[in-house]
Amino acid sequence: MIKYKLACKNCKTTFDSWFASSGEFEKLKKKSLLVCHICNSTTVDKTLMAPSLRNNKKDTKHDLQLEKYDNVKKTIKSYQKFIKDNFKFVGENFAYEARSIHYNPKKKIKGIYGNASKKDLKELKEEGIDTKMIPWVEDKDN
Ligand SMILES: [Zn+2]
Repeated sequence: MIKYKLACKNCKTTFDSWFASSGEFEKLKKKSLLVCHICNSTTVDKTLMAPSLRNNKKDTKHDLQLEKYDNVKKTIKSYQKFIKDNFKFVGENFAYEARSIHYNPKKKIKGIYGNASKKDLKELKEEGIDTKMIPWVEDKDN
């Protein structure tokens, strides 16, 4: 008999389990017969405890965070491109322009973007003017 510490990737539970041999473990895993007793997920695997592997894990995590950051940045940039292509940039005049569109529905502007303070946004909201805040990445980051 061999005891493994198993971890469920789905609900993060760890638990001990006994197997006849390491071969039996692999067989059950291949057949998706290793099931988490908490959430019934089959994403159960042996946990790796060796110190050298722990270091590798740390590096991987760091890379993953960088990758995530890059993905978020890409998403923001694609929003920015859409906004630049479709909306008019009004810079610091955002609150003024937003009001002029709101109170003059005949004005033919699809949308605007620019800078506004939190106070501006609060006042616009109170006047029933819908604004959206989005994170902005400077182009010079490229
Ligand atoms: Zn689970």
